[in-house]
Amino acid sequence: MIIDFHTHAFEDSLAAKAIPFLENEGNIKAFTDGRAAGLLASMDRAGIDRSVVCPIATKPSHFDGIRRWAREVRATQPRLEMLLSIHPDDPDALAHADETANEGFKGVKLHPYYQRFTIDDERMFPLYERLAARGLFAVFHTGFDMAYPFDRVADPVRVRRVIDTFPALKFVATHLGGWRDWEESRKYLIGQPLYVETSFCLHEMPAAEARAMILAHPADRILFGTDSPWSDQAAELARWRALGLPEDFLAAALGGNAARLLG
Ligand SMILES: [Zn+2]
Repeated sequence: MIIDFHTHAFEDSLAAKAIPFLENEGNIKAFTDGRAAGLLASMDRAGIDRSVVCPIATKPSHFDGIRRWAREVRATQPRLEMLLSIHPDDPDALAHADETANEGFKGVKLHPYYQRFTIDDERMFPLYERLAARGLFAVFHTGFDMAYPFDRVADPVRVRRVIDTFPALKFVATHLGGWRDWEESRKYLIGQPLYVETSFCLHEMPAAEARAMILAHPADRILFGTDSPWSDQAAELARWRALGLPEDFLAAALGGNAARLLG
């Protein structure tokens, strides 16, 4: 069972607009058409069984639209595990966390750049507390983002403060703990009790370096992810397999850990 813990897709009516817009913002090319069907086709090509889809509410009002679409997709596409997304400025953020859990969604995606917050800002703490209390995991964008100036709003030191403050929060840090901030990630996050997902990193660092970082983290807390459509699922999977990791470690990282986290 291979599970990609970090993918993006959009409602069919939005995808045709969202993809060129985001391609332009990030100066990057998409590897799918951005629709759920496009993601499924990519999964078939790559041999990936399930994908976790991480929508991002860039406005508080987006919660409802994302939820409506997520309900639809999960009813028809059991291979796609839909997350919801709560905006930090949402006056109903805590109620929405409760509704997320009540409806059986497993977690939320939070993105400090797209949602304009600093990851260890205390205004976020009530939401973190509620997510933890309801057993929801949170997939955070961590490190820098190529579409934004490199402000330190989601860097490993700040992440460490959050996981130290909320040990019960199932914190998933993307991009090996902090995109293009891997020195700090090694120092503050690798080896700590948080989940670390690996997308968009393996082509940016020497394989030996990636391998050492991955092996230095608890084996039950490493997750395979691709950030599709922003990278190619088949290529990311091939890079993982080329790392020469022990077989049982690889099986856990490519699917076992994710399956456990998804229940
Ligand atoms: Zn992403």
